[in-house]
Amino acid sequence: MKTNKSKELYEKAKTFMPGGVNSPVRACNAVGRTPLFIDRASKDKIYDVDGNEYIDYICSWGPNILGHSRPEVIEAVIKSCEKGLTFGACHEGEIELAELIKKHIPSMEMLRLVNSGTEAVMSAIRAARGYTHRDKIIKFEGCYHGHSDGLLVKSGSGLLTNSIPDSAGVPKGYTDNTLLAKYNDKISVQNLFDEYSDEIACLIVEPCAANMGVVPPEKDFLKFLREITTKHNTVLIFDEVITGFRLSIGGAQQYYGITPDMTTLGKIVGGGMPLAVYGGKKEIMECVAPLGSVYQAGTLSGNPTAVAAGIATLKVIESEKDLYTQLETKSAIIENAMKSTGFNVNRVGSIMTPFFTDITVTDYDSAKTSDTEKYAQYFQYMQDNGIFVAPSQFEAMFVSAAHSDEDIKYTADIIKNFCDK
Ligand SMILES: *Cc1c(COP(=O)(O)O)cnc(C)c1O
Repeated sequence: MKTNKSKELYEKAKTFMPGGVNSPVRACNAVGRTPLFIDRASKDKIYDVDGNEYIDYICSWGPNILGHSRPEVIEAVIKSCEKGLTFGACHEGEIELAELIKKHIPSMEMLRLVNSGTEAVMSAIRAARGYTHRDKIIKFEGCYHGHSDGLLVKSGSGLLTNSIPDSAGVPKGYTDNTLLAKYNDKISVQNLFDEYSDEIACLIVEPCAANMGVVPPEKDFLKFLREITTKHNTVLIFDEVITGFRLSIGGAQQYYGITPDMTTLGKIVGGGMPLAVYGGKKEIMECVAPLGSVYQAGTLSGNPTAVAAGIATLKVIESEKDLYTQLETKSAIIENAMKSTGFNVNRVGSIMTPFFTDITVTDYDSAKTSDTEKYAQYFQYMQDNGIFVAPSQFEAMFVSAAHSDEDIKYTADIIKNFCDK
């Protein structure tokens, strides 16, 4: 498999962009490769500039639940483009998308359209703080909520001490109000509430974690979070940027039967365009300007082209009645191939992660025990056999509606061969 043209473009890209990329993980540093430059994508395949074909399990990190270039979505986008790319003014599509979202995620009584998951989370937290008149927030180690300053913390100096930023350029003071708990560890949450009782504005959680690899919530964990936040009048935010429309049409909250106060959406909801959403209880969202005093705005928010892609995607998801059953079946085939040959795999619906460790991965610490060298070998073997998986251990593998039975079987066979190696 030749990748000369990708390598050439990578050298050139490096002169313009830090590391040659517009988002760090794409650089493939963790797996000892250089990035492929993609020319086009269709259904479950992507094609690089050297003409190689790969079965894609990154799916743009989640958005492409219908696969690439789904005709209904592309047509909707083209039709919308012909009427103008952006108005910076109200249009009917915004209402249509909001109605569709609320129909399937009724806890989002009111919502706002924004441009990225980062922006959605940042705005949701601001609304929760404005609503409660409190400053502190709780997040979990290993959960990713975008790259805004206050959330770039996952490792720190223990539970009841102040959090240390993960990134240079984040002033210490910006994360002082970020309290860290351990995923699936009720006591770590209880301790924070014992200490800071009525100072905590919100608790934000990925209802099924997918940014330390896939780590499902243990039985009753979400129920516990619902109960303790209710008790302390703390806003419970589910960051469903990955899980929304992924685990079920009603997201993780429907899948697990736990209703948060606020929800953030991204990835799938934009159908491949830059669009994200935050919303929740009416009384919280009414704090947002111009109704309330929490300021949040956006030049391109509710952009008609992105909205058209979102509507078209959600309509296809609605119309394909057995979509989630099929995703489950296909994903189970890959999971079983991994298990049958000794991978330790976490899977929920169509997201999964193989971990190269003997212990069950339930949180950030256990995820970090995975042998990342082994993951790099797995990545390389898959890529050399025409399969595109995440270039990092701590990401999810995404299965889409477009993955053909034949390609799923081929993938399962390659996984088995890797283990036999
Ligand atoms: C991807 C992701 C984000 C950030 O979304 P961007 O659109 O990349 O800013 C936030 N939260 C979760 C759970 C995510 O997976």
